[in-house]
Amino acid sequence: MRWNRFWILGLGTLFTCTFFIQAKNNPVTRKQDKPIRTIIIDAGHGGEDPGAKGSYSTEKQVTLEVALKLGKILEENMPDVKVVYTRKTDRFDDPRKKAQIANDNKGELFVSIHCNSTGKIRKVTGYKTVYHRKGKRKIASKQPIYAYYPSNAKGTETYIWATSKNNAKMESLKQNSVIVLDANSEETKQLMDDTDPETFILLNTLRNAYFDQSLRLSTLIEDEFTRVGRISRGARQRNEKGIWVLSATAMPSVLVELGFISNPEEEDYLNSGSGQQELANCIYKAIKRYREELDRFTNNRNSSPATTRSNSRSNNNAAMLKPGKPAKNQPDPGDGYCVQLMITDKLYKPGASIFRKLPGDINRQPVVMNKKKMNKYMWGRFKTDQQASNALRKARKLGFKGAFVTNC
Ligand SMILES: [Zn+2]
Repeated sequence: MRWNRFWILGLGTLFTCTFFIQAKNNPVTRKQDKPIRTIIIDAGHGGEDPGAKGSYSTEKQVTLEVALKLGKILEENMPDVKVVYTRKTDRFDDPRKKAQIANDNKGELFVSIHCNSTGKIRKVTGYKTVYHRKGKRKIASKQPIYAYYPSNAKGTETYIWATSKNNAKMESLKQNSVIVLDANSEETKQLMDDTDPETFILLNTLRNAYFDQSLRLSTLIEDEFTRVGRISRGARQRNEKGIWVLSATAMPSVLVELGFISNPEEEDYLNSGSGQQELANCIYKAIKRYREELDRFTNNRNSSPATTRSNSRSNNNAAMLKPGKPAKNQPDPGDGYCVQLMITDKLYKPGASIFRKLPGDINRQPVVMNKKKMNKYMWGRFKTDQQASNALRKARKLGFKGAFVTNC
């Protein structure tokens, strides 16, 4: 668990750092690419699978109500986003089918909605005397009397896939590569060659970017729940039944546990119209914040008030990213733009095959992040906004999904 937390913190910082630097330094503007055009909403369980049971309601009813309410808010407030539901009625689908719906629709975000539950708590309410025979003797013994009460566990949790499922996530990305790469280009065909080590590296980079994004959204969702007074049990990783769909979807994906249906107080809240609306609103607001951040990340805008807020929020994290000694052949600071390809602990030479489709200079810069030595890889020096934007598009197309333009 401790390791998981470290992992979450490290990657969260990486995402925030890259975002911060990009937002601060990058003056390049161009026609906006919308990073989220399709959102998949998955109401957990359904049909013959009721999910967890409360005293009078089932998980499948609550998840469907909240999923439909969330979809309605999204449709009304984000008309440019297509909302796809894995179910809109009380229907059962195999998780494989749900993942297929998400992948076939080329979703850019997968939000699965569930409710939590725990077993009842056993309490001793008294003792009774029980007699039994041992030979001719009658022996008395005390035995406890138990009563069972609903657990008072309460609150929300949002899950992302466990890192032990990373290989499964990568397989999903490979199977559905058309979502992220131009399927018709010769480059893509080469990239998707199983035996090519570059395929592995690039899919790995993409998966890490999706992990960061999923983690960010899960944190925002829990933050919104806290704002309306819910108890947040945090953003977590889980590797259990029901989480399979998170690694089977080729996109950033989260699973939201709305509350404990086994807790009478929360069961009432989960079944109330106002409670369901509040939950749907929280998830919507988190998606909105997430999309705004991603918009800035993609379109390199740095003038909106929201960006300024985000920068100030990220200052502490950004301070942790310290440049190390400049690498040899690093260009002097000056005019022009570079494309930052990635930050990784892996060491590649400038002529490494992973960079072979990027003409021009590749520079490595050592950086220290969370007390760990990392390598920042920068591509080229581009004189104009337009050249830098074209280079960025090429880098992303080649699989450097976290790439962005920055000043050299
Ligand atoms: Zn469930």
